[in-house]
Formats: sequence, C-alpha cells, structure tokens
Amino acid sequence: MTIIRRRRKYVRETDWSCSSCGTMNKGRVMICKNCSNPKESDETYQPAADRESQPEITDPELLRLAYAGPHLKCPYCQSDVRNIDIHCPSCGSNLGKYQTDNIPESESDTHHKETIEVGGVKTNNQDRQDYDLPRQLATHEVEMAQYQPTKILPQTNWPRYLLIVGLPVILIATFVWLMIFLFAKYDENAIVINISWWRTSAIDQRFVESDENWDDNMPAGAFNVDCDSQQRGTEDCNPHGCDPFPCNPEPCNCKWVKTNKCTDLETGFEECDEEEQCEECFTDTCYKTCYDQCPVYDDWCSYDYHVWREIQRETTRGNDHNEYWHDLQPNGELQRMTQTSGYEVNFSVNEKEYSYEPEDSVDFARFNIGEPWQIRVNRVGSVEPVTRLMSEEP
Ligand SMILES: [Zn+2]
Ligand SMILES: [Zn+2]
Repeated sequence: MTIIRRRRKYVRETDWSCSSCGTMNKGRVMICKNCSNPKESDETYQPAADRESQPEITDPELLRLAYAGPHLKCPYCQSDVRNIDIHCPSCGSNLGKYQTDNIPESESDTHHKETIEVGGVKTNNQDRQDYDLPRQLATHEVEMAQYQPTKILPQTNWPRYLLIVGLPVILIATFVWLMIFLFAKYDENAIVINISWWRTSAIDQRFVESDENWDDNMPAGAFNVDCDSQQRGTEDCNPHGCDPFPCNPEPCNCKWVKTNKCTDLETGFEECDEEEQCEECFTDTCYKTCYDQCPVYDDWCSYDYHVWREIQRETTRGNDHNEYWHDLQPNGELQRMTQTSGYEVNFSVNEKEYSYEPEDSVDFARFNIGEPWQIRVNRVGSVEPVTRLMSEEP
C-alpha cells in the first residue's frame, strides 16, 4: 500500500524559440544568444525538450526571475521586459515609472514550500517562508472555491405529491372503514335453538419420583438429596499470546515522485509538482489472545420429589337446566379433586348460528330452547344477549 506523505512544488526552466533565427534559448535570457534579437510576446515559452532531466532551479536569483510575474512590454521597442527589470534589455530605456509594483517583497533562497500533509506525518515547516508563491490550494479547497450554490426553484411535482399524500389517506380510510364494518355492533332477533352444559371432576394423586440432575436444575421440594462433584463443562483459562501477525505499520522506503503536473509561470520557468510516496512497513509482531480450556465442576445430585398425576376424570353433560356433578370423591391425603364447568347457548338468525357462553349457572338459567331473544352481534363473532322478547305465540 502506497502512502503519499507530502507534496511540494519545484521550479524548472523552460525554453523559447527565436522567431528570427530559430535558435532555442533558455528561459532565463531575454536576448537571443545567436542573433541578439530580443524576446517578444509571441515567442511563447515551451517546456524544454529534455524536460524530465531538467534540474530543479535552486539559485535564489533565478527563482526571483521565475516568480516576478508575467512580462511587460517595452513601450518603446515592443520587446518583452521582466516585471522586475528597470531597464529594457533590448533598447535600454528606463522603465522605472512604467513599472508595476509587482516585485517580490522579500527574497529567499527557499526553493520550495511543502504544502500538504498526507498520511498523518507532520510536515516540517522550516522551509516555508513568505516567498511570493501563489498560494497552493489543496484540491478540496479549489473545489470549494469554485463551488457556486445553484439556485433551485421550488418545483411542485403534482402526481408525485398526490401519491405521497393521497395513498396514506386512502389506506387509513380503508382501514377505518374495515374496523367499523367488522366491529360495529347491531341488533338481531334470534331464537334459542340449543342450550348445553358440562361438568368435569378430576382426581389427582401424589406420587414419589426419583431423578438426578445438576443441583440448580433440581425441582423445588426435592428430598432425599445426595450430591457429588462432577465435571460439568469447560471454561476459558490461562490466556496467552498466539497467532502472531505483523502490526504497527509505519511509512518506509519513501521517495519523491514527479507528477508531471506543471504550471507555466510565463517568465521562462515552470512550477511543477512532486509527491513523497512511501510504502507501509510493519514494525512489530503482535499476538492474538488464546485460552486453554479448563474443567468446571458442579454438584450432580440424585433426589426424590412429589408429582401429581390425574388418575380419573368424569364428565356429566346435558341440554337442560338439571346440572349435577359426578359422584367422584378423593380418597385420603394423597388424592385431590379439581372441578371445572362450562355452558353454551346457540341462537339462530335466519339460518345463521351465533354461539354465546354464559359465565355461570345463573346466567345460563335465563335461556330456554325455543325462546325469542334480541341479541347484539358484530361480524367477528361477538354475541351479547340483550333482552328476552315476548313470545309471539299466545
Ligand atoms: Zn535569434
Ligand atoms: Zn525597449
């Protein structure tokens, strides 16, 4: 994995071609070395033919030329003049008054400035001085600077709006209607077509059972308990380092790599980028934590306990009001009896049947087969008898 630790800019010299004699001149000269014609504005700078092997410019005097700003034009002979030159290199005219104040305020032998930190390594600022370099922006800063908030006109998308608002309204309305349809109660005139009752008596008897289990799984009330220690399982123990793996990466094998991104300074020099690229080297060996398995002991117990089992059950039933229990009776302390009962009344409304379960014998006694009743029902099976109607027959 490659880490980019930092970037820096450096300066290289460019060339210009003399339009009079075709000679290639170095960026630092303003007069053709062959024919002595001055450089003019249409003789633009171009990267040197052997650009890659061009040395980095470190001479402070040349750097001063590089960052002097775009050339001016001599008003007398039309040749190019450096923005920091007092005299035209071609005709010698004094351009002092004509000069702009574009001269760097301070000179420096600094030849680069480091600008970006990548990979978390703090950059040394010792080389950074107030050199009149254009401030280099990190990529995201450039993007921020260029960002213009776009005005978005409020736009109403009616079909979509209706769908978002209308669909839930329809769903809720449908749900409410369904609830009302299912649970709304209404009265019906019904006839009692059947009544029924049942009474169940059950005898349970207590038995003694024997079993064995871990002590925390024993039933409450266990007796004749006899326990001894046994291995119940294992647990993690003796933590120790294992499975070594490389860790704690640090930048290493760093080297400066040219990115071939250059800006023509239009002064006979160009400013180029390079970045320091590093690999990741692991400096340590780390270990995971492993555990041994150690036995865990617990009490294993044999014991007796009581359990109730149903040994007899009798049910009586009928379709009248003569309810009675079976004559089943418990026999001694080791037996006990439980009794349960239930009732049902069936109504008929135009062949449709409704079932009602009275709470007790008193409630059940109100109903007789063949009697007309007003009942309150809904569509999910709720049935409430309201009142007994006067018999239509005399
Ligand atoms: Zn020439
Ligand atoms: Zn001139």
